[in-house]
Amino acid sequence: MQDLLIYNTLTRQKELFKPLHAPHVGMYVCGPTVYGDAHLGHARPAITFDVLFRYLTHLGYKVRYVRNITDVGHLEHDADEGEDKIAKKARLEQKEPMEVAQYYTNRFRNAMAALNVLPPSIEPQASGHIIEQINFVKKILEAGYAYESQGSIYFDVRKFNKDFHYGKLSGRNIDELLATTRELDGQDEKHCSLDFALWKKAQPEHIMRWPSPWSDGFPGWHMECSAMGTKYLGESFDIHGGGMDLIFPHHECEIAQSTAALGHETVKYWIHNNMITINGQKMGKSYNNFITLDEFFNGTHEKLERAYSPMTIRFFILQAHYRSTVDFSNDALQAAEKGFARLVDAYNRLQKITPSASSTVDVKGLRERCEEAMCDDLNTPIVISNLFDATKAINSVTDGKATISKEDLDELKQTFEVFVKDILGLRVEESNNTQDKAYKGAVDLLLEIRKQAKTNKDWATSDKIRDELANLGFSVKDTKDGFEWSL
Ligand code: ZN
Repeated sequence: MQDLLIYNTLTRQKELFKPLHAPHVGMYVCGPTVYGDAHLGHARPAITFDVLFRYLTHLGYKVRYVRNITDVGHLEHDADEGEDKIAKKARLEQKEPMEVAQYYTNRFRNAMAALNVLPPSIEPQASGHIIEQINFVKKILEAGYAYESQGSIYFDVRKFNKDFHYGKLSGRNIDELLATTRELDGQDEKHCSLDFALWKKAQPEHIMRWPSPWSDGFPGWHMECSAMGTKYLGESFDIHGGGMDLIFPHHECEIAQSTAALGHETVKYWIHNNMITINGQKMGKSYNNFITLDEFFNGTHEKLERAYSPMTIRFFILQAHYRSTVDFSNDALQAAEKGFARLVDAYNRLQKITPSASSTVDVKGLRERCEEAMCDDLNTPIVISNLFDATKAINSVTDGKATISKEDLDELKQTFEVFVKDILGLRVEESNNTQDKAYKGAVDLLLEIRKQAKTNKDWATSDKIRDELANLGFSVKDTKDGFEWSL
């Protein structure tokens, strides 16, 4: 098996990936809170960990990939205060909370399928694991790192920090944290402002509630990932992932919970993708730039000049390394769209090439270079630039300017199959969809009429067809065999 180097947020360095029980790999990634449509912020972790899932599988590992659905316990103010996000949406829409959760779970799965993100091996829901969460809280209480206060259970951060290190993942320490958080006013249930809820007693108006030894209530947000991760992957597992925004407090609290309950850490490699900005701005409610994936696919958000296909979004995300920031803009997306179209074109040309006796193009070592880039902390932009180099060779062969041997051609085809389709997960085949076929047929027909018009020296008709197609966004190129067009 190839040596894979992966950056571990916990140690702040690239490490050789060595699973605890090879060839089995356990991977847990924090999934969406299902109270609204998936937006661009969901696409990046989904695609990043999809590529990691695909690549580990390609290397021969048997991966159990768990990605949860948060359908309870994520409160409005992200800390321990406010209405449950799903319950609030249900109240506004006069629905059952589980109706809201199901609706947005379905929509999330559809958006992921459009992006060609493979479904995880297990997709557990927080609301389906209340008993496991209660048991996890009990363990923390028994170990002495939590306390009860008016029916709620809080994690005792200061006590934990005496025995372990709270803040190791995010690189913070408790004194700094204490200096920057608000003082408690004496009315609080918590003993210290850094403490966080493991179980919350439900207020009378709170509809999502379950019985527990302490009160009718609901689990704290961080609890579900500790409980479900260890349930499905064991008390020690290989990978825990998510967006960088989850490092603190969510993942920091998960480490504290698991260490307090079990006496040791559970995760070997913490992996985080960087964030997305839109026109240089952070995504946020106040900027009106939470563009949903559907709005991208349909072009219906005011900040979008037009629609962008799911594969354009996927390609755009993969053009950046997962630990770099990515800035979305119409210009950048349109550039990605062109780049992706070139790759699709090369893939489809490649299928039609007839090999010659020998090669005048050099495509040797392409597969190794792609493999090397992936093994260096999943460097997808380098893989893409290697594929673009091969695109030039493919085009010169199909343009009749170069030749390729059968051996080289087979190698090239294999590399494209494996890297473009299996690992990067890009859909590049010409569609078999009848609608697509009809649309392509119609454009071809128009261009045939234009060719006829040119033969007849009917320049008015020929120019009209060319200009009108250009207005619709088509680019038409005359070639020695007739014409080529693209959108
Ligand atoms: Zn989580």
